Amino acid sequence: MKYPVMTINEAKIRQNSRTVAGLCRKHGIDVWGVTKGLSGDPRLASLYREAGFKGAADSRLRNLEKLREAGVPMLRQLMRIAMPSELEELIHTADVSLQSELSTIKALDKLCAAKGKNHDVLLMVDMGDLREGFWQTELPRAAEELRGLVGGVRLKGVATNYACASGVLPSRENMENLVRSRDRFAEMLGVELPVVSVGGTCCLKSIEDGFVPGDVNQLRLCEGVLLGTDTAGGREIPYLEHDAVTITAEIVECRHKPSVPVGETGFQAFGEKPVFINRGMRKRALLAIGRQDVNMDRITPIRRDVHIVTASSDHLIVDVTEADSTRSPDEGYKPGDTISFRPLYPAMLACATSEYVEVRFE
Ligand SMILES: *Cc1c(COP(=O)(O)O)cnc(C)c1O
Repeated sequence: MKYPVMTINEAKIRQNSRTVAGLCRKHGIDVWGVTKGLSGDPRLASLYREAGFKGAADSRLRNLEKLREAGVPMLRQLMRIAMPSELEELIHTADVSLQSELSTIKALDKLCAAKGKNHDVLLMVDMGDLREGFWQTELPRAAEELRGLVGGVRLKGVATNYACASGVLPSRENMENLVRSRDRFAEMLGVELPVVSVGGTCCLKSIEDGFVPGDVNQLRLCEGVLLGTDTAGGREIPYLEHDAVTITAEIVECRHKPSVPVGETGFQAFGEKPVFINRGMRKRALLAIGRQDVNMDRITPIRRDVHIVTASSDHLIVDVTEADSTRSPDEGYKPGDTISFRPLYPAMLACATSEYVEVRFE
């Protein structure tokens, strides 16, 4: 076995996906499984597909291209506003994309027409989180311009994000406004716009609480299914598994050392000045994983009696005094043993993109 490893428990991901799909189905909502948390891993998309998700969505074309190349038979949605320089790849790789720039949509439309292809677009509307999307007051002018499309781009609906840039949560009011934006666009354009899409995990709470308008029919979701958490809503989702994704690193040194450094201290390698509390001699385990692989503020030891002390580029130091005291003397932690952690979303992303961390499905 190679370490560090990020282990993906397929049974738990499958179970979470099915639970979410079931909840959403009851409310007439299709789920699009977001794959960016694991860098567009086709194995994740396949689990989503088995659970009945409608499509796979990602922020990066490179990730969607992995799904296409792996032949995962699912619709693919690009969620990040397309770069004007990637439109050729976009129509090749994705079936649908979220868009908010009129010049990009027009260029995409022309390109599609020239190639005899179609591409579906959901118009992003900013409901207050202040990242991408049309602002309410712009809708009439946008509709005016979009009426000139030549038929390569097929407008399918509207979409919005919650809690991405500013932490704005979904509410009955802002979701009703989103539906109203769809209605206004549809009326001004004289077309049907069947899709109303929302994201991400923080929307689950609104669905549970039953205040999502009936016209909202698409949810884009990642964090909840993978980690069972809702960072924006500040909760562990009670009906989902929380340890489907774990990070495991190997111990390379174990020593009893003082808890306060010896000598005058300046700044450590990352420009920080750590604060130390004297707890006497402690048993410290040095793990072969570091800040280059994972952000230590974003992982939690699975054992509650293991405590993170600090980390440098290539090492994570944990205090195992308490954990060791619960074992017999010759059973203590030693080099070659491993310690596992639960990641928060940013740590999972970091591990998924680190070439030093193996991602293993089991
Ligand atoms: C990442 C992302 C999501 C999924 O968000 P989670 O909170 O991780 O479920 C949805 N929509 C967009 C546009 C995203 O970028």
